[in-house]
This record gives sequence, structure tokens and C-alpha cells, in this order.
Amino acid sequence: MHIKELVLDDFKSFGRKTRIPFYEDFTTISGPNGSGKSNIIDSVLFALGLARTSGIRAEKLTDLIYDPGHDDEDGFAGEREAAVEVVLANEDRTLTREQVVSAAGTEDVGDVEEITVRRRVKQTDEDTYYSYYYLNGRSVNLSDIRDLLAQAGVTPEGYNVVMQGDVTEIITMSPYARRGIIDEIAGVAEFDAKKEDAFGE
Ligand code: ATP
Ligand code: MG
Repeated sequence: MHIKELVLDDFKSFGRKTRIPFYEDFTTISGPNGSGKSNIIDSVLFALGLARTSGIRAEKLTDLIYDPGHDDEDGFAGEREAAVEVVLANEDRTLTREQVVSAAGTEDVGDVEEITVRRRVKQTDEDTYYSYYYLNGRSVNLSDIRDLLAQAGVTPEGYNVVMQGDVTEIITMSPYARRGIIDEIAGVAEFDAKKEDAFGE
């Protein structure tokens, strides 16, 4: 399974609908400082519910909505909304139809060749906002998205996203701590945790 396309709509610096295609093997994004490269990564973490707001470099969720005067201090200027859609290629059925049906809570999810996860954040007032998630067009909760993605090995604790500074951290950490990362990637850590629990009982 891999990301096939991102659709950003009023997310951070993307003030108009932007489609970004991803290749199956390798895609790089280049551009000058401040052009929005990291915002693209933030959009994936936002849509898949993989990071806290601070993890996507915002104080509050509404900071993620495109604001032409982003760096100015100004008040609420009317209802606005940001949306990000992540299209996952699932030709290999990393996630089965049953798994998607179960997460979406309906049979009506299409053929699951593609899985789309979409998130919107809508601000209606100075300090009122709503957040919505959709799976193949059906309204779901964050926990449904989390549970589904975990079945494909995508978790907030995982190493699907290597952030700026992570590589240096891995190089400078103790061999024991580094072993922990390898265990996590190999899927062994989960069993170690279960073993610990069992010994504790
Ligand atoms: P670098 O090469 O320095 O890492 P980058 O390409 O990763 O740069 P980003 O951090 O993705 O750049 O983009 C930063 C820009 O996004 C800043 O100019 C900032 O003002 C803008 N930005 C962030 N949030 C918003 C928003 N809500 N509305 C408009 N612009 C925003
Ligand atoms: Mg950056």
C-alpha cells in the first residue's frame, strides 16, 4: 500500500485546491525555503490523524486553515475550512474489503482498489471549530481510521514518517535504545509489551 495522491484544499499555505501525485516507489519534493514542503508532510499527518497539533507545527487546529495574512495578528473573519484527502493505492489488498467495511460501518465503500481518508476542519466562530473524518466518503471517527491504518502497520508510534532531526537522534542514541526502534519496526516490540504484561499478572 502506498500514497497515490494528496488533495489539499485551503490547508496551511495551499490556498487553492492542489493535487499532488505520488509514485509507487519514490517521490521527492523540492522547493525553496518556506514554499510548503513540510506543510505537505503535515497534511498527511493531519488527514490520517497521526500527530498532535504540535506535531504539525500549529498551536491550534484552526491554525491549519489557509490564512492569507498568516503571519499577522487579526481576528475572526468569517467561516472557513481546510480539507485534506489522502488517496491510498490498495491494489495489493493490504487492507481487505472486510476490514474497510468494518471501519466504515457500511457495505457501501466501493471496490477498495483505492482507500481515501479525508479530514476537514471547519471554523464557525472565533473559538468554535469542528473536525470531521471520512473513509471512502463515509463519515467515521478518528478511532475507526486509527484502527484501520494500524492493520496496515501505520500507527502514530510507528516510523512511517521520519521527521527532521530523527536521523541525528537515531545516530546519537544508545545501542539499547536503537535496538528498541528495530524491534518496533520488526513488530517484535508489541510481543515484548504483551510478555511484560503477562509477567506482571
Ligand atoms: P524549509 O525548506 O525552510 O523547511 P518548507 O518548504 O518546508 O521550508 P513550510 O514549513 O512547509 O516550508 O512552509 C512554511 C510556510 O507556510 C510559511 O511561509 C508560513 O507562513 C506558511 N503557512 C503556515 N501555515 C499557514 C496558514 N495557515 N496559512 C497560510 N500560510 C501558512
Ligand atoms: Mg521544511
